[in-house]
Amino acid sequence: MKRIILLGASGSIGTQTLDIIEKRSSEFTLVGFSVGYQADMAEVIYARFPSVQAVCLRQEIDAIEFKDKHENLSVLYGDSGLLDLIKETEADMVVNALVGFVGLVPTITALKLNREVATANKESLVVGGKLVNDLLDQGHGKLYPIDSEHVAIAKLLAEAKEKKIDKILITGSGGALRNVPLEELPNATPEMALAHPNWKMGKKITIDCATMMNKGFELIEACVLFRRPMEDFEILMHDESMVHSAIRYRNHRYLCDISVPDMHGPIEYALEEGKGKYEIKRVRSLKKLKKFHFHDFDPKRYPSVEICKKAYEKGGNAPAILNASNEVAVEAFLNYEIAFTEIPYYVEKALKRIPFVENPTLEDLLFTDSMTRGYTRERINLDKR
Ligand code: NDP
Ligand code: MG
Repeated sequence: MKRIILLGASGSIGTQTLDIIEKRSSEFTLVGFSVGYQADMAEVIYARFPSVQAVCLRQEIDAIEFKDKHENLSVLYGDSGLLDLIKETEADMVVNALVGFVGLVPTITALKLNREVATANKESLVVGGKLVNDLLDQGHGKLYPIDSEHVAIAKLLAEAKEKKIDKILITGSGGALRNVPLEELPNATPEMALAHPNWKMGKKITIDCATMMNKGFELIEACVLFRRPMEDFEILMHDESMVHSAIRYRNHRYLCDISVPDMHGPIEYALEEGKGKYEIKRVRSLKKLKKFHFHDFDPKRYPSVEICKKAYEKGGNAPAILNASNEVAVEAFLNYEIAFTEIPYYVEKALKRIPFVENPTLEDLLFTDSMTRGYTRERINLDKR
């Protein structure tokens, strides 16, 4: 029986992970979980999973209320609560379904305790990929990706003949604004950008899909996970999100991973440590696949991808600056404070402005994150005057 701690249980990946734990209750058991501001969800989840021993909420006031009702449980709160949840609860695997930088320290804490970590939280790998890989190299814990493209690549690389590989193609749909004329993009509203054609996900990643900052992050994530240089990867635009990634051989044959767009499959794959017993909604017949559309990537429409590549190549704390300024800019866009096309503008401003640190420690990354947030927030406020 695998004992699981789930961080971010109230989110899109979190709730789908709960479905799988419930469905396969003879193999997986939930021993701890966290929610953010949706405190009501904690009651619902605990009622569904009585095996839980510890719960972490975002706010102290919610934690006090929850503890009053459940004296037998360990009830924690805040950033330190997430870490205590990991440290104090006996578990085999931590599933990180948090969104944003807040996921970094929990991933590092879990690895240091030699836990298996299944992570959807790509921000922690973008910002702290080197620290995470150093821990893995020192024999601390195991790491399994949940992101669908990376699960696809892991499966494809297990099949592929290394010598024959030309490129690894990471597919991207282009997000909700892919058909909006370029000159109209500055007027795109949050409602428009949130209407993703193929996936139902949390708000932040849905906006990152529309800018394709998400794909830039995924390129970095792929370099970290598969320990390969950026030039091994290429983006392939694919409208239907059915081909999750592909390998192009030197003789121009392709190896593709095809399945319906449903995160239950990749999550299950990660929970099983990539052993591949998982069952997903199957594509029952090739006839059902209908038409697939592929296009070249358009760097003019999606400047964020180049920004990500440059930040990764620069290294040091540059990816931390990239991530923090993007988090602040996305939130400002969702609050109608800045235009859609200003998201990469503020990210570039921060990358130019925040001091570079070549070999950052975890403390340096935490400092960079908070400095970048402060700078980007202030820059937006000044520009609004
Ligand atoms: P959601 O916004 O749906 O969920 C995020 C979760 O994190 C929620 O449980 C939220 O709590 C919690 N949370 C957010 N901020 C904090 C905080 N400061 N402290 C504690 N908890 C917090 O996001 P998704 O599930 O869509 O995405 C999660 C991660 O997975 C992201 O990194 C994303 O890029 C990645 N991913 C997502 C995919 C998807 O299909 N959704 C696909 C591939 C990757 P609450 O809501 O209660 O406030
Ligand atoms: Mg993805």
